[in-house]
Amino acid sequence: MPIIDIHIHLSSIESFRHTARELSGVDYTELGLRREFERCGVVLGVGMGVEETSPGAFPDIKAANPMRLDLSDPLPPFLMECVGINPVRLASPEGRKELERIEERLASDEVAGIKLYAGYYHYFVTDEVYAPVYELARQFDVPVVIHTGDTYSMNGLLKYSHPLTVDELAYRYRDVRFMLCHLGDPWVMDAAEVVAKNPNVYADLSGLVVGNRPHFERFMNEPLFMDHFRRALVYADRYDKMLFGTDWPLAPIDVYIDFVRRLVPEQHHDDVFYRNALRVFPRVEERLARLGQ
Ligand SMILES: [Zn+2]
Repeated sequence: MPIIDIHIHLSSIESFRHTARELSGVDYTELGLRREFERCGVVLGVGMGVEETSPGAFPDIKAANPMRLDLSDPLPPFLMECVGINPVRLASPEGRKELERIEERLASDEVAGIKLYAGYYHYFVTDEVYAPVYELARQFDVPVVIHTGDTYSMNGLLKYSHPLTVDELAYRYRDVRFMLCHLGDPWVMDAAEVVAKNPNVYADLSGLVVGNRPHFERFMNEPLFMDHFRRALVYADRYDKMLFGTDWPLAPIDVYIDFVRRLVPEQHHDDVFYRNALRVFPRVEERLARLGQ
């Protein structure tokens, strides 16, 4: 079965380098990613653009729009990008110019969607600062991918990253597709409800565990931990709207595949590991057609 990894990173972010070195043990380079993809049958990855202007600054209010995968240029055929948005600069006097740069980048067939770092940046997703971004998503028919749940930085603010904030957004922009990252963890039941209620909301299952295989084994063998996610998946009962992603380099790809295989009932594996991504991301389908997949 071919696999699409809808959520990885390939940007020069000090906390990702540190996690790769100390926790997950992956080789955080384009070559390292390609090797893991090849070994695991991953045919395409979508990277979440993010940049920091100095080591450790993430979430960086100074990073210019759009934020990219700056460890890889140009992107190899097996990778696409969601352009990262920094709302602080969008709201600044440079905002108009940066919006033009986002629009320019969205015209590239390397781009699969738009990524918002809710919580990391202290704006609600319904804030007017993002309105022109949603218009661009509509215009280019690309999904808006939204960080939800715990932030991988103590400088995030959780009230902005709670999955319930996306309910009103989805209501306001019914013709834009939204994907909640990390199933809103730890608010997975709230995320499940937002997915089940709103026809234009999907979720990815990335980043639910961070670390190497021994660390994963410990959690995978803890029923309370696994049931925390299973309850939300069973409640939503929308395996056609859940997408596989790893949040690499936060975890090795093969370990994460095993983890999601255990969470999701087998009859839904084709959907979750491959087909749902094509429904949410039309440009992923176009890219795969070109690659002959
Ligand atoms: Zn991520």
